Amino acid sequence: MSATVHAHDPDCLFCRIVAGRIPSRLVYQDDQVYAFHDINPWAPVHFLLIPKAHIASMAQIGPEHAELLGHMMSLVPRLALQEGCRPYPEGGYRLLCNTGGDGRQEVHHLHFHVMGGPRPWLRG
Ligand code: AMP
Ligand code: ZN
Repeated sequence: MSATVHAHDPDCLFCRIVAGRIPSRLVYQDDQVYAFHDINPWAPVHFLLIPKAHIASMAQIGPEHAELLGHMMSLVPRLALQEGCRPYPEGGYRLLCNTGGDGRQEVHHLHFHVMGGPRPWLRG
């Protein structure tokens, strides 16, 4: 992965959260990823899972990121249950990755929304 793709962006909201410069409610972190509660939840459970490295969106993802994305996806089931999503199949969750303008992406640091819990939800 190139240095440009991995640079910390001081102007990026989620890079600032990872760096601890903006407070967040931590769900999980390790050397590669950071997960925290969404500030404006759509559902009883709503957290975001992001790489610690600055990657703007899914549009920047290539084969060199397979290991990182595999790691992130493999964390989702465990973190979802840990945060209160009900077990599959009655429960489950939505896993969402808005990408670009047409995808209604607002924060340009790659993130996966995990939303779950009993319905009705506010949105989604
Ligand atoms: P997206 O539209 O996919 O880019 O979603 C960005 C998400 O980031 C939204 O659901 C926001 O509520 C969430 N968000 C924005 N600022 C913060 C923050 N400081 N802490 C936690 N979540 C945030
Ligand atoms: Zn960033």
